[in-house]
Amino acid sequence: MNLLWEQWHALPEDAVRQWQATRLQKFLRDAVLPFSAHYKKIFNKENLTADSIQSLEDLAKIPFTSKADLLNTPENPDHFRDFILIPDEKVLSKRIGTICNALLHGREAVKKKFEAEFRPVFMTFTTGRSAEPVPFLYSQQDMRILATAGKRVMEVCGARREDRLLNTFPYAPHLAFWLTHYAGTEFGAMMFSSGGGKIMGTDGTLRLIKKMKPDDIIGIPTFLYHVLSQAVAEKVRCENLRNIVLGGEKVSDGLREKLRELACELGAPNANILSTYGFTECKMAWAECPFPADKTSAGYHMYPDFGIVEIVNPKTGEVVPTGQPGEIVFTPLAARGTVVLRYRTGDCIDGGLTYEPCPYCRRTVPRLVGKISRSSEIREMNLDKIKGTLVDFNELEHILDDAPHVGSWQLELRKKNDDPNELDEIVLHVQKIDGADEAQLSRDLSERCYKIADVHPNKILFHDVQKMRDLQGVGTQIKEQKLVDHRPKLK
Ligand SMILES: [Zn+2]
Repeated sequence: MNLLWEQWHALPEDAVRQWQATRLQKFLRDAVLPFSAHYKKIFNKENLTADSIQSLEDLAKIPFTSKADLLNTPENPDHFRDFILIPDEKVLSKRIGTICNALLHGREAVKKKFEAEFRPVFMTFTTGRSAEPVPFLYSQQDMRILATAGKRVMEVCGARREDRLLNTFPYAPHLAFWLTHYAGTEFGAMMFSSGGGKIMGTDGTLRLIKKMKPDDIIGIPTFLYHVLSQAVAEKVRCENLRNIVLGGEKVSDGLREKLRELACELGAPNANILSTYGFTECKMAWAECPFPADKTSAGYHMYPDFGIVEIVNPKTGEVVPTGQPGEIVFTPLAARGTVVLRYRTGDCIDGGLTYEPCPYCRRTVPRLVGKISRSSEIREMNLDKIKGTLVDFNELEHILDDAPHVGSWQLELRKKNDDPNELDEIVLHVQKIDGADEAQLSRDLSERCYKIADVHPNKILFHDVQKMRDLQGVGTQIKEQKLVDHRPKLK
C-alpha cells in the first residue's frame, strides 16, 4: 500500500490491474460486505461473495449503482445510511489482526485505530438540481485520501510550494471547495479561499487578486471568466499568474481560449488553463497536466490506488476496450464512510481510458481522454425533446460555448403564454463581448443552433454582465445554470 502511495504515477497497466483486483477483493471482504447494508443485500441477491471477484473483468458481475439508487424514498427515508460502512464490533474483535494488535498495543489503541478508520467526521452533499442532496460521509481515513488526492491535483497541475493560491470555489458543503482547501494544506503552499461570489463577491475577489498577486487561481469557469474580465476592464496586472485551474463544471475549448486571452491581457501570456474532473460520489478529483496552448490536453490523471475507473457502453452497460468512448463508472478501493460501488456518473467521455505514459508529464497512470458530456443532466431535465425535435444539448452547448463574440449564455425553456399545453419556446440569453453587432450576432447564433439542433431559438435576448450572472446564479450555484427549464408542468 505504501509503495503504491508513493509510486501511484509510475506503474504499468498490468501491474495496476493486478494490484487493483487483489485490492478490490480485500476491500469487499474486509470493509464493504460485512458493514454496508446496501451491498450486503445486493451481493446476497446476486449470489456473489468477495471471492467472486478474482480479476478486474469480474467487476462486471457487480450491479451498477446510479444516482437514483442513492435517493431516499417514502418507504426508506434514510436510505443514504445503507451506503455508510457501519462496523460491527463483534466482527472486528474476532479478526486475527485485531487480536494481534490488541496484544501488541493494547485495547485502547485498537479502538482508536478503528475509530479513525470508520467514524464519520465530515460530509459533503451532492449538487443535483432536481433531486434532494445526498450526504456523503468521510472518516479520518477518508480525509487522508481527500488530502492526498488534493495534493496530487496540485502536483499534476505543476503547482510549486512557493506559489500563492487563490481558491474561489463557493464556500459550501461541496467537494470542490473542500478538496481545494485540503489540497493546499497538504501540498504545503499558501492558499486563500475567498468563498466565491456569494462570500467575498466579484469586487472582493478582485481586491484579493490585486493584493495577493496569485500564481494559481482555482474556481468555476464561468465565475473566473467573469472576475478576470472585470480585472482586465480595470487594467489589473497579474504577470506571475501561472495556472488557472477549473472545476465544478466542464470546460469547452471556446471558454478555455477566452480565459487564455484574458490571462494574456493580465500580463501572463503563458498561463496554463487546466481543468479538473471529480464528483461527490468518488470523493476526489483528477487534473490535467500543463500542455502547450496549440496542443490538446492529455486528459485527467487518475489515482489507481484509490479507485477503479471503467468505461461502459451507456446503452448496454458493457465495459468497452481502452480508448473507446463511453460512460464513466467509478469504484473506490480504500474508502470508508459512504461507499458506492460501480457508480454510473452519467458522464460520457469521447476518448475513453488510456494507460499510455502521458506525452507531456510522462506519468504512467490511467487517464480519461477527450470531451466529457453530461448526459445525466439531459435525463434529469427531460430535455431530449424540445419543440418536438430530438435535441442533443451537449452538441448545442459546445456550439454556443465556442461561438465568437459570446461571453456567457443561457438557454431558457418556456411554454408559449406559460400554458403547459402550449408549444415549447426557447429563449437564448446572451452576454456579448467585443462590441459585436446585435442583429448580426442574433442571426449567426440562430443559424448555429439550427445547424446543430434543428431548432431556431424563439427569442435571443442580450444582457449586461450583471444581469447574466443573476440569470445563471454565478457565485451562488456550484454549477452555473446554462440550461433552465421554466416550462410549467401539466397538472
Ligand atoms: Zn501528464
